[in-house]
This record gives sequence, C-alpha cells and structure tokens, in this order.
Amino acid sequence: MGGVRVRIAPAPTGFLHIGTARTALYNWLFARSKGGKFILRIEDTDPARSNPQMVEVIIDSLRWLGLDWDEGPYFQSQRMELYRDYAQRLLVSGYAYYCYCTEDELRERREKALKEKKDWKQDRRCLRLTPEERQRLDQEGKPKALRFLVPKGKTVVDDLVYGRVEKENADIEDLIIVRSDGLPTYNLACVVDDLEMRITHVIRGNDHLTNTFKQILIYKALGTSPPLFAHLPLGLGEDRSKISKRHGAVSVAEYRKMGFLPEALINYLALLGWSPGDDREIMTRTELVKAFSLERVRLSNPIFDLEKLEWMNSQYIKGLEADDLLQRVLPFLQENGWFKGDLGEEEREWLKKVLLLIRERAHKLTDFVNLGEFFFSSQIEYEPQAVEEHLHSPGVREKMTLLREELAELEDFSAHFIESALRALATDLGVKAASLIHPLRVATTGRKVGPSLFHLLELLGKEKVLNRLDDALRLIPK
Ligand code: GLU
Repeated sequence: MGGVRVRIAPAPTGFLHIGTARTALYNWLFARSKGGKFILRIEDTDPARSNPQMVEVIIDSLRWLGLDWDEGPYFQSQRMELYRDYAQRLLVSGYAYYCYCTEDELRERREKALKEKKDWKQDRRCLRLTPEERQRLDQEGKPKALRFLVPKGKTVVDDLVYGRVEKENADIEDLIIVRSDGLPTYNLACVVDDLEMRITHVIRGNDHLTNTFKQILIYKALGTSPPLFAHLPLGLGEDRSKISKRHGAVSVAEYRKMGFLPEALINYLALLGWSPGDDREIMTRTELVKAFSLERVRLSNPIFDLEKLEWMNSQYIKGLEADDLLQRVLPFLQENGWFKGDLGEEEREWLKKVLLLIRERAHKLTDFVNLGEFFFSSQIEYEPQAVEEHLHSPGVREKMTLLREELAELEDFSAHFIESALRALATDLGVKAASLIHPLRVATTGRKVGPSLFHLLELLGKEKVLNRLDDALRLIPK
C-alpha cells in the first residue's frame, strides 16, 4: 500500500484564486505532514477556456507560494482517451445512456413544469428509447450526450471535516458525463484522474460537496472504492459572501503585486479556517507542517481579514535579514523609477540601512516606496499641514538658521553628533529640543512623522540635509 496522495486540480482561469491557494496549501500541508505526495493537475478539458499563459500564471503562483508538487502538472487535455475509455465502460455496463435532448428542449420542459407548478427533474425519456428510435436519431445526426444513470438508494460521505453527510439518490439528477461535443465533464474526468492517480484523500472546498455525491456513485459504478473526502468551509469576504473582485484582490498574483510576502500569505491562509490548537499566530512553514491536521479544520466559514493579513505581513517584514529585505524591496523601488541598473557595494549598504530604519512602519513591501520617498527622490514633497504647523510658527526661521550653522560645522555627521549639536543649541537658546526637532524633520523629509530623526539625517548625509534646510528656509516667511 502506498502512502497519502493528494492533489490540487485548478482549472486554468488565468489566475490562482486566493481560495484555491488555501485549498492547495491544506493539501500540501497534509501531504508534507504525512510524508505523502502532492500532485498538480490542470483541469483544462475545455479548450475554449484554457491556454498555456493561463496555466503559466497558476504554476507561477504556486511556485511563488512555495507549494512544490511531487508529480505533474498533469493536463486533462492530454488524457482524453482515458476518459473516453471509462465512459465506454460505464455505457457497456449499463451505468450510462445516451441522451438526445438538447439544452433548448430541456429548458422548455423545465419551464413548462414550472408554469404548471410541478417539480421538474431530468425525466430519463432517452433511457426508454428503443434501439430503432436510437438508430433513427443517430442517422439524423442528432447530437447526443452520455448521461450517468443514478441508481436507487442513498449516498453517504464520511467526511473528514463534516462527519457523515447523506443524500437520497432520488435527489440527484442523471448527470452528463460526456458532452455532445465529445468532451468529458468535470465529474467524470475528476473521478477517472483521482482513480488513475491513486489519490487517497480529496481535500477541496465544500462547494464541491454536491459533486462528491455524484462522484461516489461513479466510483461505485466502476466497481472501485472512492478516496476519503475532506471538505473545507469556504473563506468569505467581510460581508459573508464568497470572495470576489468586490472584496479587493482575489488572485495570488495580486497579493504578490501588493507587496505581501509568500511566507506571510501562507501563514495567514493556513490559519484561515484551521488552528494549531494553541494560540500561536506566527508560524513558519515547518511549524505548520508539524502541527497540521484535518481534525482541526474549523467548521465555520472563516472571514478573510485583510487587516490581519497586513499585520502578519508586517511581522514577517520585521523578521527579514537585511540582505533578504533588500532583495525583496528592490523590485518595488525599481518599478517606481529608482535604483535602475546594478547597485554598487556602497549603495547597497546604504540602502540596507535605510530599509532597516523605515521598516518599522511597513505593512507591505509596496509601503517602502512611500516610506522611503524622501531618501530616494531628489525633490521632496512637503505636506502642507506639516509646513503650516512646524515651519510657519514664529521664531522658526531663526532657529533653523542657527541649527543649519551648527550642523554645517559637524565633521562627523552621525546620529549621535547630530543629536548632541541639536540639544546643545536648544540649551543655549533656552528652548525645548522638540521645537527644533519638529521643524528639522519637516524641512528634511517634508513630513510630520517618520523614523528616528537623527538616524535618518545621518543616512541622508550632510550635503543633502544642508541643501534641504536651505530649501526649507525659503519656504519660511521672514
Ligand atoms: N477544477 C476543480 C476546481 O477548481 C477541481 C475541484 C476538485 O478538487 O475536485 O474547483
């Protein structure tokens, strides 16, 4: 007997939905925690709805998240022969029949029943066709789909998350397994692949529960036993509806672009509907693998909380080594037009210090653009309110002029000496240090708040600081 084998089976929709990413993660964690295999299968049976670029995006996102797979990607589009064989087996064994009803005919019947206030169910009329009638329809070239014949009885899922769930087969319609254009439907292809790939556990969103009943019936018709199932409550938006564009970013690629770290997203998604059983919140991948179990998947629908994700991201940003931090932030700065080309050694070291200084306030990698703007832009923008409040008050002009002189004298322009010079001047003038600190910050950064002033001045360097003070003095009324 082999070990655990699980899979993620996205359809190539052009992006990896954040919910699918969570399902992939739970499968991955389960496989890794059991020493099993995680398989990637692309459900691209519909040629009209898939192309290689769309597949590429999904693969990129999984790679970026670090959800590495052991087998695949398998492509359903390359396995059509297999689905046809299985469909044939079901037809021959009497578990499937051809249905000639067109969509339009079915709709008409449904609408008619609705008008007459009758329940409508696919009425199996094609099952009762005589061989002659069938021959005639075939000769006429009428398109036909293959339907699965749902047997009597009831179907039970012993779900690893929800427990036992049952459904009367009478409530399950004879489902199409091969469409009239010859393409297998999801339910057939999924069962065939899960069988052929010897999947032991199907872990997927609970929106698939209705499919699970149908799939179990197909397994039984094929004379095999189904895998185990674990359905995950769906993550919802804050208004308790399924996560969609309305809630903001939906795809993993968007979160990446917004400046989230993959490890933070992994950590957040893992805890979205699962708990380690204690109050840990920041957990590394290894800790997650160690702690993961399907038993602790929560039954309620988790609510996606962007603020919490941002907090978690900030924690991960704070924990990065300087070199790593630089490497991750740099593309965002470059995208903004800064640091084109290779960085020299000195520039690298300087940039690392800047990033370490400003990261306290960063929630996302994109935040470094704004937080670091006054370091990277030649021209700073003054916040009007900051100017009003700190540069336009009486006496500022004199104080800044004197402060500029003191700073110009400094040979060692390091935080410590800058601070001593400023405090000494404050004492000489008999004013509070704050009355120098605030205008100095606004003069050199354009802002009211920011990182440690003396450290940022050191990193800006004497020349820039003096130039900015000159610029600011021009803004201060005489
Ligand atoms: N292609 C299906 C989906 O993306 C797969 C569902 C399953 O895991 O069986 O929803």
